Amino acid sequence: SAKTPEIGFDIPAAIGMRVEEIQTPALIIDLDAFERNVARMKQFSETMGVSLRAHAKTHKSADIALYQMAEGGAVGICCQKVSEAEALIRGGLTDVLIANEVTDPKKIDRLARLAKFARISVCVDDASVVAALSAAAVRHGVRLDILVEIDCGARRCGTAPGVPAAELGRIVSAAENLELAGIQAYHGGAQHIYDPAKRRVEIDRVVALVRDTVDHFEQAGLQCRSVTGAGTGTYNLEAMSGLYTEIQPGSYIFMDADYARVGATDGNGTIGGFEHALFVLTSVMSKPASGRAVCDAGLKTHSIDSGLPFVFDRDGVTYVDASDEHGNLDDPDDVLALNDRLRLVPGHCDPTCNLHDCFVGVRDGVVETLWPVTARGKVY
Ligand code: PLP
Ligand code: MN
Repeated sequence: SAKTPEIGFDIPAAIGMRVEEIQTPALIIDLDAFERNVARMKQFSETMGVSLRAHAKTHKSADIALYQMAEGGAVGICCQKVSEAEALIRGGLTDVLIANEVTDPKKIDRLARLAKFARISVCVDDASVVAALSAAAVRHGVRLDILVEIDCGARRCGTAPGVPAAELGRIVSAAENLELAGIQAYHGGAQHIYDPAKRRVEIDRVVALVRDTVDHFEQAGLQCRSVTGAGTGTYNLEAMSGLYTEIQPGSYIFMDADYARVGATDGNGTIGGFEHALFVLTSVMSKPASGRAVCDAGLKTHSIDSGLPFVFDRDGVTYVDASDEHGNLDDPDDVLALNDRLRLVPGHCDPTCNLHDCFVGVRDGVVETLWPVTARGKVY
């Protein structure tokens, strides 16, 4: 029999509680802002006539992914890892693109098995993997959709655009139980370029490489129903290219501090009107000296690879340094007192979510939802 989870032992909050009672540090979602972000991207994709395949690496939550499917205009989701897909499919998702390469034979077998329960697509950038994918699909009696990933400037995975990509496409289309779905073209670095003109230049370059690749697919008589990629920093540019059929933004639902910097250069402090919706709720645990304070949110509660968090809605207080369990705050006017609560906007949302067991969804100062981070730690 399932025991009711206890606050502190199991969870940081309970539904119906006031925000002031949440045990900190906790990862909280402003549900109103989150829902507006989801609705905004739905509206954008519908207006532009591109499919929205929301990336679930951001939140790793079955509840959020199902909400994006039901209310957010998503046609499916992306995952980065097979285990992430396993967790989310178990949670009820039925159309998953692994927007990444899977090369280990055992992982390929797990992936093919998943196709019994959901529609599965995956990227390839190496001909040697195609045979293994095909054999696994035959073994499990399933079909897999395959996207040829091109390196369009990120220098991460991906085959060279143009002729090599079309050659790989030809190998895929000849393989049993594999369906050549099209092209994956994602440029991660471009998402985080702060200058909008430079972002545009970079995506123009991407689009030219994609166009060349699509042309080679056509010349080779290969089908290419899907051209997919893009994230929160550039989704509008790929959508406007007329070439992309699908966009894969993830962070748009939360908008971390780095995306605020990307958007700030657009003049409105956000990208396309998206709002901060994810916060680390933290408490002041020490006021050891004039001019500074210490809070209970450090490296184990938020990720600082894209910069430090900023303090939301509280002028004059700055988060200046993180250690494992502490955050150092500059408090020049000594406005902070013990047990004061602050909301931090994390520097980078995706790895931050992976540090927590659950999201505490808040509306009008009251806890409305507790959503498990379903695929927390599912990185294998
Ligand atoms: N697509 C792929 C392949 C990614 O790796 C990522 C993020 O790293 C995204 C989409 C989503 O990007 P963002 O969270 O910046 O919107
Ligand atoms: Mn990210």
